Amino acid sequence: MELRPTDLQACAVHPTAPLVIVDVDEVLAQFMRGFGLFIERHGFELRIDRYALFQNIYRPGETEHVDLILGRGLFDDFFRDGAEDLLPSIGAADALAGLSRRASVVILTNAPEHGRQARVRWLKTHGFDYPLVINSGPKGPSAAELSARTRGPAAFIDDLLPQLESVAQAAPAVGRFQMVADERLRPLAPCDPIRHTRIDDWPALAAALETRLFP
Ligand SMILES: [Mg+2]
Repeated sequence: MELRPTDLQACAVHPTAPLVIVDVDEVLAQFMRGFGLFIERHGFELRIDRYALFQNIYRPGETEHVDLILGRGLFDDFFRDGAEDLLPSIGAADALAGLSRRASVVILTNAPEHGRQARVRWLKTHGFDYPLVINSGPKGPSAAELSARTRGPAAFIDDLLPQLESVAQAAPAVGRFQMVADERLRPLAPCDPIRHTRIDDWPALAAALETRLFP
């Protein structure tokens, strides 16, 4: 049996250049906005009450969110049928294009495997034509493996505090930046700005990344 290399094994990283490891949903893509429109078309509504996904899905007029199995089903359907309609985060493509002149860029997403082809197309369409690693679970071990492939400095960008913590544990030398693209989610996102730099605006984030990666 022929073993296909995993995304992580196949991902080329320049051995001396700085490295940017970047999440997609709510970082490069306006996930909540796109997912909200998708579930509206299926007769549900998204209420931005907390930093959660399935607990924010309601039937119109109801006060209890839908059960988690239904929420998971909508999430899976979205990645199959709806994720190509996502809007990119403002300024993200320009920021990465600028950084990529001197740094490697790797996209590290926890999108489900069945959404791979749609995700690849979406990334290309919106100017994010960089190596894609589909991850599952905590991202720290993957960030550690990628950052070990270069002698240069590395930075990791994600919206989720547990992922930033995972990278802090597994790869403490990697710079950590939290970005939340959706303005409604920003005040709700758990954060720890002492441990992980919080910047929600791509041009400002790009400047901070430049300082970190090209001192
Ligand atoms: Mg995300």
